[in-house]
Amino acid sequence: MAIEFSFTPDQEAFRAAVRTFLEREVAPIVAEMDETEQFPAATVGRMQQEGYFGVPIPEEYGGLGLGKVGYCLLLEELGRVDSSHGAIVGAHTSLGTIPLLYFGTEEQKRKFLVPAAKGEKLLAFSLTEPGSGSDSGAVLTVAEPAGTGFRLTGTKLYVTNGREADTVVLLAATDPKRGPNGGVTAFLLDRGMPGLTVGRCEKKMGLHGTSTAELDLDHVEVGPDRVLGPVGGGFVVAMTALDVGRVSLGACSLGAMEAATSGALDFAQKRVQFGQPIAQHEAIQFKLADMAMKVHALRYLVYQAAAHQDGLGTDPSRWGRRARQEKTREAATVKCLGSEWASDVIDEALQIHGGLGYIRGTPIERAYRDARIGEIFEGTNEIQRLVVARDLLDRGL
Ligand SMILES: Cc1cc2nc3c(=O)[nH]c(=O)nc-3n(C[C@H](O)[C@H](O)[C@H](O)COP(=O)(O)OP(=O)(O)OC[C@H]3O[C@@H](n4cnc5c(N)ncnc54)[C@H](O)[C@@H]3O)c2cc1C
Repeated sequence: MAIEFSFTPDQEAFRAAVRTFLEREVAPIVAEMDETEQFPAATVGRMQQEGYFGVPIPEEYGGLGLGKVGYCLLLEELGRVDSSHGAIVGAHTSLGTIPLLYFGTEEQKRKFLVPAAKGEKLLAFSLTEPGSGSDSGAVLTVAEPAGTGFRLTGTKLYVTNGREADTVVLLAATDPKRGPNGGVTAFLLDRGMPGLTVGRCEKKMGLHGTSTAELDLDHVEVGPDRVLGPVGGGFVVAMTALDVGRVSLGACSLGAMEAATSGALDFAQKRVQFGQPIAQHEAIQFKLADMAMKVHALRYLVYQAAAHQDGLGTDPSRWGRRARQEKTREAATVKCLGSEWASDVIDEALQIHGGLGYIRGTPIERAYRDARIGEIFEGTNEIQRLVVARDLLDRGL
């Protein structure tokens, strides 16, 4: 296992370009977006033009070809500025484009992946249902054979980008008795297909720029060209995408922690109480030190996991069992620790701000609300611990 890691000059240049772009174009609209709870269509459109919706996708399929490390650089920078934009990019890229890249036919890649990576189409991913959350193999949306294809009926929940997406990677049961072991299949559904409607969009504690939509399927008919990966192989498609998503969530958490720590450090050096900046109080210094230590540790975890995924390549049929297990354990570790450390660090940063940290509209108050979902979506942290524990019992430390 490689433990050395450094960024190439091209990766550093990409990070610098992203940071400049986000500070200029996204940072100014975030407070209003949070208040109005509107999807940030204009800034998403500008990011699509810049190629930021296809960062890990090879150039031959319309992406920037910067791998998972480049993708995590983008997510880290997004986390510093706004986690809603991070979640919109993440749902599209990790959970929409990656399944197409890894499991799509050449025809599906040309039809769905290229426009998505170029930023011409927005993607979403739909696994969760009212009765199937953590137990994600228990989906009840059924896909029955119909002609040469399938007819899908059911209800999906909590779909990020669900209201805006052009295409959704959606999991349905082709053999409900078999569950995750061969009974679930991934499908590609387009907005506006007969029988597919967007239902309620949730009001949320944070991530106010994202839609979290219900999708209702009433006898949606699809041809065989809409099956992504093998029939019955949908659970593997979903879990493989989530391994990428969980590392990128860690990167978004890292950015949010960096912004919170820098903001708290700056505030603590300016805010004077008892005749001196509060940063001079040891109790505040200890908080700042703990925050900085978590940032430092997560940085290594995120980029080690991303570099490992890059090293494995994009053809899952070439990965051995051990490589798969390591990748999955790393992704669960990064997601779990990253989200919990982000909650801790942002909580301490808010505390350092005193009453100001609790005032609606301050960046730290928004970050506090936005961070909490990291412990829940893309698999709760209880589930990440189960993933790590199962691998531990199987392979040891
Ligand atoms: C803002 C937002 C965006 C989302 N985006 C998407 C999306 O784009 N696509 C998508 O498909 N889904 C999405 N989700 C759904 C999300 O992934 C699920 O909410 C999550 O996986 C948990 O499922 P659940 O809500 O049904 O909770 P449940 O599974 O009902 O869990 C409830 C509690 O029980 C615990 N628990 C359950 N089983 C176990 C166990 N075996 N051992 C220990 N504890 C357990 C859980 O950890 C949790 O604490 C999103 C959710 C939100 C809120």
